[in-house]
Amino acid sequence: MSATRRRNQVPRPRIADTGRPIAARRRITDMSTEHHVAHNYSPLPVTAATAEGVWITDVDGRRYLDCLGAYSAVNFGHRNPRIVAAATAQLGRVTLTSRAFMSDQLEPFCAALADLCGKDMVLPMNTGAEAVESAVKVARKWGYEVKGVPDGRARIIVAGGNFHGRTTTIVSFSDDDAARAGFGPYTPGFDRVPFGDIDSLAAAVTADTVAVLVEPIQGEAGIIVPPDDYLPRLRALCTDNNVLLIADEIQSGLGRTGRTFAVDHWDVAPDVFTLGKALGGGILPVSAVVADSDVLRVLTPGTHGSTFGGNPLAAAVGRTVVGMLADGTWQARAADLGEHLHSRLHALIGHGVYAVRGKGLWAGIDIDPALGTGKQFCLRLAARGVLAKDTHGSTLRLAPPLVITHEEIDLVADHFADALHRG
Ligand SMILES: *Cc1c(COP(=O)(O)O)cnc(C)c1O
Repeated sequence: MSATRRRNQVPRPRIADTGRPIAARRRITDMSTEHHVAHNYSPLPVTAATAEGVWITDVDGRRYLDCLGAYSAVNFGHRNPRIVAAATAQLGRVTLTSRAFMSDQLEPFCAALADLCGKDMVLPMNTGAEAVESAVKVARKWGYEVKGVPDGRARIIVAGGNFHGRTTTIVSFSDDDAARAGFGPYTPGFDRVPFGDIDSLAAAVTADTVAVLVEPIQGEAGIIVPPDDYLPRLRALCTDNNVLLIADEIQSGLGRTGRTFAVDHWDVAPDVFTLGKALGGGILPVSAVVADSDVLRVLTPGTHGSTFGGNPLAAAVGRTVVGMLADGTWQARAADLGEHLHSRLHALIGHGVYAVRGKGLWAGIDIDPALGTGKQFCLRLAARGVLAKDTHGSTLRLAPPLVITHEEIDLVADHFADALHRG
């Protein structure tokens, strides 16, 4: 079949054929006509045109309160003025050099981020999955070169219900069938144990174990907070067995839970942080692996890299984000407002809500399955002007930008209650 014929079989947006006036053209961006976008998402039928702070305005001028915040990537609000100013200034200077040359932005960004994490070195990458992949590579190389594990035998322990991204290696150790099935053969070298169960984890450690990789609070699994002794005992277990503790704080970190990092709630210092999402200030993908040099020094010239990792624009944005977190104001705001959000949501338990979990401005809400799936409930909220996202089954996740106000939280809770009672 010729390329031309194949192209012609793709259903076209009607605008291409009819030349409708502007008002009608806007509909071509509706999900029902996203013909040229791969169908790996099932978006709500809301088409953003502009956004500011917690508000998204759609192509028809309707305003929505964004309670997803791009899965925590928009922690500081849409188009945060300070971050936009930093990005705009850097756009006028230099945006991309590759790591073949240095820029005046990378070292200050890495120094500030390392300091925020209490570490001394940063590996800059782009997406969250890349940060996790990079941490897996670093942990394996550390295992061979520093711990002395025989070549090819390194193992990494992960948790059931984990979400660390979408690459072939990462989905290899997922237990979510939707994420995993059909993508084999799978990368070996991972052992999965139930999340929050320190005894199973201890039993899985062998002489070949180089790292434990966990989300301190599991995000995609439904905002699952582990038992209070889990992370402190995990820290001790890793120290006793010379195993790296890798905390994936891509979603939980950078202020979301009311602390800089979720591990701070338990005073636990991991050996390695993976960061992403909010590090890019809601503007561009910026991720990082942060650790001490005794770990990251296993990477030497030529052993790892990324064309875009640490680019001047990303570094300028990332450094601004780190600077904003330096005095604890955002963290305190997330803690205070999070208390209000959680108390409003807890009042709904027994009234269509089964359980509410989370910390800070991060909540997983299990609704009565009789009220429909999480997706159906999100459609009801969207009809009321509130955007949220389901995770699994009848669980919803709220992660509004940290700029949300007390009154806006009341608005969300009122709409939530109304959607529970009136459908
Ligand atoms: C989103 C997420 C990732 C993957 O980040 P991407 O930027 O989508 O690749 C990894 N780990 C956690 C905990 C996440 O929430």
